[in-house]
Amino acid sequence: MGFWKRLIRFAVIVINDEGFEYEAGGKLISCSQCGNTRFYKSKAQLNTKDMTVWRLDYLDKSAKTLQCKKCGFILWFGKSPANRTFLQ
Ligand SMILES: [Zn+2]
Repeated sequence: MGFWKRLIRFAVIVINDEGFEYEAGGKLISCSQCGNTRFYKSKAQLNTKDMTVWRLDYLDKSAKTLQCKKCGFILWFGKSPANRTFLQ
């Protein structure tokens, strides 16, 4: 698929607010609650007590999260899942 086709497809997905398909470990990620394969990606701070005391929370690691577009279930990942839309 050419660059422009991919760009147009990306724009259509963003405009329609469809969410993206992701894969981890070479497999398509699906929601364990409802089976949906469209997610919104975000990240969450992994706070530790010691860092919070010293107000250094920003130095703690963050986890990658995928929120299911259909039911809102959140999946957590230690490393970033690959966006399938850009792989195809
Ligand atoms: Zn779901």
